[in-house]
Amino acid sequence: MSRFKTFPKGGIHPTDYKEATCNKEVQNASLTSTAIIPLSQHIGAPSECLVQKGDLVEEEQIIGKSGGFVSANIHSPVPGEVLEIKKIFLPNGMAVDAVVIEVKGEFKRLGKDADLRDWSGMSNEEISAKIAEMGIVGQGGATFPTHVKLSLPKGKSCETFIINAVECEPYLTSDHRIMLEKGSEVLEGIQIMQRLLSPLKTVIGIEANKMDAVELLQSLITEKGLDIEVMPLEVKYPQGAEKNLIKAITGREVPSGKLPLEVGVINANVGTCLSVYEALVLDKPVIERVVTVSGGAIKNPSNLKARIGTSFRSLIDDCGGFSEEPVKIIAGGPMMGFAVYDLDTPVTKGTSGILALTSKEIKAAKPTPCLSCGRCVSSCPMGLNPTKIFKYIDFNMTEEALEAGLMDCVECGSCSYMCPAHIPLVQGFRGGKKIIRKKSMKKAGQ
Ligand code: SF4
Ligand code: SF4
Repeated sequence: MSRFKTFPKGGIHPTDYKEATCNKEVQNASLTSTAIIPLSQHIGAPSECLVQKGDLVEEEQIIGKSGGFVSANIHSPVPGEVLEIKKIFLPNGMAVDAVVIEVKGEFKRLGKDADLRDWSGMSNEEISAKIAEMGIVGQGGATFPTHVKLSLPKGKSCETFIINAVECEPYLTSDHRIMLEKGSEVLEGIQIMQRLLSPLKTVIGIEANKMDAVELLQSLITEKGLDIEVMPLEVKYPQGAEKNLIKAITGREVPSGKLPLEVGVINANVGTCLSVYEALVLDKPVIERVVTVSGGAIKNPSNLKARIGTSFRSLIDDCGGFSEEPVKIIAGGPMMGFAVYDLDTPVTKGTSGILALTSKEIKAAKPTPCLSCGRCVSSCPMGLNPTKIFKYIDFNMTEEALEAGLMDCVECGSCSYMCPAHIPLVQGFRGGKKIIRKKSMKKAGQ
């Protein structure tokens, strides 16, 4: 039995393939000549477009204004001219408006020393407003606007502030590198958020396959005398899924359909902590992020800091291109990511990885009938019965699928990974959820 904590139900141990990039320092990606910036890069209302064709924009200018309470500002990652506003498809299948900018003019920060600001004299309201202004969203994949997450509703308090540094998806190492290369900045980002939340306890959860990061952060915390605990966790997928991480660290279970705050927890990803630091100390909005570009078909797998709006093609070129024809390109990790069919797809605030996988890395087999082996059931970290829910969706029995817990599925893909019949369970659940959301919108007259 492992000496490290973990979540109790289900979970799997896929090969992690992290060795290709975990020791590679983050490099700057090539600057794009044309940036495609989607106006919806977060959960919630799309941003309202503030520019039109022909406008000249400065780097870091707000081009999309937060479109509602749960929404986020979007800034131009480059200086230039707006060529057009067009519809594009994101990897998750959503059609969104995007601003296309041709690079022209001066970059604000390139080649200049950073002007560091002191946030300690700012009020909590000023800090919150700055986080909102800078368009920060959760960078672990959920892309929930950070200023909304950090505004505690009346009567609620944060007992445990959890920093999600688990990065349990195979191949991905961007969070790992951020911790190793920007440890002090991440810790200052955490301190800024501690000011807003006043948690009783702050814990950084890291899987025990990143002990170099555990040791580094621990020594920085001791040196700076911070009130932050670093907790190594057992290596088990999906340890980084919000509810599993909360269970592993606090032992508490977030009830079905409820938010972590129900059990006194607020979560933030490591990349988000770095963005908070950059917003408050460097006065810098989210215009770039670290992306792991990896997979057997990539010549030189790397971690790249890329401007938002840079195409996947450009990042793959920075890695020397393909060493062989990939069978599949994925945005994100192989378990929860989405297949991409267009290399002009742009990097967004939520792009943690770009994977180009070979046939050896993909179990491409035709689905066969269910063998009733139960492996999907025993691997599910949410205690669901995936085969049963899949059958309900297949027979269009959405009410029954809902009752069986479809909405509790975190789409971790553990069941699909374990299924010997290669049934596309998680794709079925995503499709089922879409149908249910459409039905309820229709019912509400939207
Ligand atoms: S994808 Fe959903 S049903 Fe399948 S194991 Fe993960 S949580 Fe369970
Ligand atoms: S793992 Fe696949 S074959 Fe086994 S019970 Fe689940 S759906 Fe059926």
